[in-house]
Amino acid sequence: MLIKDSVLDFILGVSREIYPREFSCQLRGTEKIIEEAIILPKTIYWEGFATTFMNMQPIDHSIIGSAHSHPTTDYRPSSQDLRFFSSFGVVHLIIRHPHKAIRDVAAYNRMGERIPVELSP
Ligand SMILES: [Zn+2]
Repeated sequence: MLIKDSVLDFILGVSREIYPREFSCQLRGTEKIIEEAIILPKTIYWEGFATTFMNMQPIDHSIIGSAHSHPTTDYRPSSQDLRFFSSFGVVHLIIRHPHKAIRDVAAYNRMGERIPVELSP
């Protein structure tokens, strides 16, 4: 999976700004590249995220997944994350502290398996 550098910078920047709270957003793009991050009202914080997120959103096939930050140096998905990942999309990003670079970002598929993510050339 590729990610545009502007999208990566945005996600890292908001994660740092909101720390120690958790940031979350939707991702738009194709099966190969993450092109845009979309923040919906009331979905910035993790609490109630999954339900709010799904209920607010009409079916939009350009939505390919999600991204959220963890306040710790651990970017492994929680059981709640895994349940959420399995509900839609092709890529889900978790950004760990210190939210500084692509090495702080892990990508997972819908099954919760780690997949490679690189900056788009
Ligand atoms: Zn999480």
